[in-house]
Amino acid sequence: MDFSWSEEQVAIQETARRFAENKLLPEYQNNDHKHAFDREMLKEMGRLGLIGAELSGQYGGLELGYVTAGLITEEIARADFNVAYVQILAGLNGGIIEKFATPALANQWIPKIIAGEALCAIALTEPSAGSDAANLKLKAEKKGDVYVLNGEKTSISAAAQADIAVVFARTGTTEEKAKGVSAFLVPLDNPKIERTHFDDLGESVVGRGSLFFDDVEVPEENILGEEGLGFIQVMQGFDYSRALIGLECLAAAKKSVEEAWEQVTTREAFGKKISKFEGVSFPLAEAETYIEAAKLLCYKTLWLRDQGQPHTAEAAMCKWWAPKVSFEIIHNCLLAHGHGGYSKDYPIQQRLRDVLGLQIGDGTSQIQKIIIAREKVGRDGVPY
Ligand SMILES: Cc1cc2nc3c(=O)[nH]c(=O)nc-3n(C[C@H](O)[C@H](O)[C@H](O)COP(=O)(O)OP(=O)(O)OC[C@H]3O[C@@H](n4cnc5c(N)ncnc54)[C@H](O)[C@@H]3O)c2cc1C
Repeated sequence: MDFSWSEEQVAIQETARRFAENKLLPEYQNNDHKHAFDREMLKEMGRLGLIGAELSGQYGGLELGYVTAGLITEEIARADFNVAYVQILAGLNGGIIEKFATPALANQWIPKIIAGEALCAIALTEPSAGSDAANLKLKAEKKGDVYVLNGEKTSISAAAQADIAVVFARTGTTEEKAKGVSAFLVPLDNPKIERTHFDDLGESVVGRGSLFFDDVEVPEENILGEEGLGFIQVMQGFDYSRALIGLECLAAAKKSVEEAWEQVTTREAFGKKISKFEGVSFPLAEAETYIEAAKLLCYKTLWLRDQGQPHTAEAAMCKWWAPKVSFEIIHNCLLAHGHGGYSKDYPIQQRLRDVLGLQIGDGTSQIQKIIIAREKVGRDGVPY
């Protein structure tokens, strides 16, 4: 077993860290009330190779592998949790487009995604289908050489600002459930798509919203994968984003722990540094342990993906555990700051709000545990 990073990995990690500390960290709190990414900043991130670095060289990617993409996610998220979302969406959607789109369509969009010029959302959830995602209703009807989309997607990250979206739609019957679902790449500048923006607790710059499709025509060549198999084929991409989400949340937790150590080794009470009280230092020591363990799980998952080995159960483990443990750690770090931690002067409360969303987004804990159980005992042993 080798836990060291290659020279190439260290180089991109340092590039990401420099960019994150100089450009992102100073703006993280300032951006808390904004509802869109700074597009010039995303282009700069793209020029440095920090978006979709794992994607194919054919489309402008650096082919650095999934583990290395995880390293970039961590560095970006330490400074700005929300900007790491850009890289996660690019990796997830770029990977889906690379694998399932026609070369012409992939060529049209992936280079723009990598360059930070286009933001791609993923639109699966509907008002009546969240955890039960295969039960979705948004209809795609084939008419000549186009599909016509009608229906609603909701709770979609970056809905109001994305340029394109991978949209899951029903091409078959409702009785077919997952087997009647296809995926499409849909440009969102179509006037027949209406978008809304939610007023959320956190992740303000990413934002969530609904997408309403009213007779939206999508060229047939924009289908991703085979008709009726979109759900089954494309959902495999989530095994990747789940590990990256784990690292994103853990990076925010780690940054909070570093700040908490600084606080407790300088703040005094009862005539001593408060770090001398085990009630203060043990939660931080435990946090260090949980972060290290959960990070290893995330990197193992990415390593398995790099090796082309199955990693569905591991990805689900990352997804339910890392956001939960990160939220609890950040909560403890906030408390270690005493009354100051409750103030918006510190970024801790913002990280707490930002991380919380990912205990739900990309599938809740309960759903991840069903996936893990299914991987261990098969479909007969679980409800779905
Ligand atoms: C910050 C954030 C970002 C998001 N981004 C996106 C996005 O970009 N694209 C997208 O498509 N969606 C996105 N979502 C939506 C998200 O994927 C769904 O909210 C999630 O899958 C849960 O669905 P639901 O909200 O409909 O909850 P429900 O399915 O109604 O579930 C409600 C509760 O019941 C539990 N539950 C449901 N079924 C079971 C079961 N069988 N066993 C045990 N418990 C169960 C759930 O775990 C949950 O606690 C995002 C959500 C958030 C909060």
